[in-house]
Amino acid sequence: MRIAVLLRDRCQPRRCNLECMSYCPPVRTGTETIVMGEDGRPVISEELCVGCGICVHKCPFDAIRIVGLPKELEKEIVHQYGVNGFRLYRLPTPHHGEVMGILGPNGIGKTTVISILSGETVPNMGNLRRKPSWERALETYAGTEMHNYLSRIAGEDLRTSFKPQYVDKLAGVHKGKAGELLERVDESGNLEDVSSEFGISHTIDRDLSKLSGGELQRVAIAATFLKDADIYFFDEPSSYLDIHQRLKVAESIQALSRTKQVVVIEHDLAVLDFLADSVHLMFGEKGAFGVVAQPRGVRGAINTYLRGFLKEENIRFREREIRFESHAPRKEWGGQPLVQFEPLYKRFKGFTLKTSEGVIRQGEVVGVVGPNATGKTTFVKMLAGVLNPTKGNVEADLKVSYKPQYIEPKFKGTVREAFLNEAGEEFETSHFTTEIAGPLNLESLMERAIPTLSGGELQSVAIGLCLAREADIYLIDEPSAYLDSNQRMEAARAIRRAMESKGMSGMIVDHDIYFIDLVSDALMVFHGEPSKKGIGEGPFGMREGMNKFLEEVAITFRRDNETNRPRINNPDSRLDREQKAAGEYYYT
Ligand code: ADP
Ligand code: SF4
Repeated sequence: MRIAVLLRDRCQPRRCNLECMSYCPPVRTGTETIVMGEDGRPVISEELCVGCGICVHKCPFDAIRIVGLPKELEKEIVHQYGVNGFRLYRLPTPHHGEVMGILGPNGIGKTTVISILSGETVPNMGNLRRKPSWERALETYAGTEMHNYLSRIAGEDLRTSFKPQYVDKLAGVHKGKAGELLERVDESGNLEDVSSEFGISHTIDRDLSKLSGGELQRVAIAATFLKDADIYFFDEPSSYLDIHQRLKVAESIQALSRTKQVVVIEHDLAVLDFLADSVHLMFGEKGAFGVVAQPRGVRGAINTYLRGFLKEENIRFREREIRFESHAPRKEWGGQPLVQFEPLYKRFKGFTLKTSEGVIRQGEVVGVVGPNATGKTTFVKMLAGVLNPTKGNVEADLKVSYKPQYIEPKFKGTVREAFLNEAGEEFETSHFTTEIAGPLNLESLMERAIPTLSGGELQSVAIGLCLAREADIYLIDEPSAYLDSNQRMEAARAIRRAMESKGMSGMIVDHDIYFIDLVSDALMVFHGEPSKKGIGEGPFGMREGMNKFLEEVAITFRRDNETNRPRINNPDSRLDREQKAAGEYYYT
């Protein structure tokens, strides 16, 4: 079976010479394999296409996919977004008493799956000629568990509650105060308890537009909990949350699953591991098709994901395996000091920050960890000379390239124009291509207008722009938000390589432990009382830094004996108690 997909967000027929049509061999011999559609974009006939792949290579915007799929999949189509649109194959069945995770790259259909399971989208089963209906969808599933589930969804016998992915948009959709939003959705009468459970009581009287990303995320999660539903969906609940908050949310979702059905999409693998019971991996080709794999236990699913190979399906979805070291890097970093700082002190109205003296070396990547609102960004701004310390000196005149936590797509031009503006023509060197654009997958985004990018695409571009600028220190605030797990691992690699080859230093603020592990040579650890008092210490070596950090969070990690990846110990388990007593929270 062959499918032809047009990635509509890439196709720009007014800016090309319709290469797909002019080079297609059957079109040249008079067959209507590609014709112009009513919307001015090409329509590719899957029946007439001979699968030569010429249009795929000739399209200047990389907007066409011609993919051969196993014939068996044909019968398993669930939904197709129009002619030459994305296709979803198979659906996962949620079960009572467990958290079902969905893990896979961006653009593979995870949100589509949730949209169907929650009854928002009626699946068309690949039939584009007739208006989709639940009756027809249910016929396909006759006699299966899925039939039972979908018929209850269709009959509105199962009530659903859904936390969407992009919480930053919440303020645009709902005007007014956080408390008003929560009151509107509250069906359980537990508003006060739930607000205090997620630490958002202080936001009740504040306008949604004034809340930080982490606060918006927790308001959205609380709103999802407050609805009295039978099945709950959480699309990326951990973005913008610090590790304390991630664990809290994970525990609450786990508790919820004892009486309700729960489905979660999550890219922080340490959190997914802790949170989910079973996981469906999804594979396919971004924007073209996605297939839901059989469920696996969470441990096996994440191990399979890191290995990059699905044995049962015989599918390789990544060339390299992702590996973790169980020992801390033995050698101290040997580079020359790039910046030395005295103990620094900064006072704002209502907030004080104290940091210890420290050194950052050339070529080193310092991970910056700790709760939200304890002064991580303030500290880096002092290093950068953007903010003056109230007391203490920073001994350097450093140029800083900064990627802020929230990225506003203000620039309206294309990605290529943004790179030209920020980094000049040097960005088109082979070094940029292999070390930055390659791992961050930027090449295919170059002709896209910045405002049309998805959250993950915008994040990759922002990281790329930050790394492409000339600077001494690269401050990258929460690069993992909206990247899928695979993109996080690739971004870690791009950041490390850029620092090594430039002999510059990076400071990376992030809350995803796997990402911090893969990206950092040293750790700076913050703690304190959020929004009141912050204390920053380090940089420390990885072992010391992880121990200091995780002691604050009160969690320990064991190692998976197959893949070495860190796994959160169950609180108060034997290992947890032994490791805490020995002071070894992370490395064995
Ligand atoms: P994920 O959640 O895994 O990132 P999505 O389910 O959001 O994936 O999307 C999968 C693909 O489906 C997208 O790349 C996009 O091309 C396509 N798609 C999603 N929603 C629509 C829609 N409403 N109309 C047309 N195509 C869509
Ligand atoms: Fe034409 Fe199909 Fe070849 Fe594309 S892949 S050029 S549509 S025959």
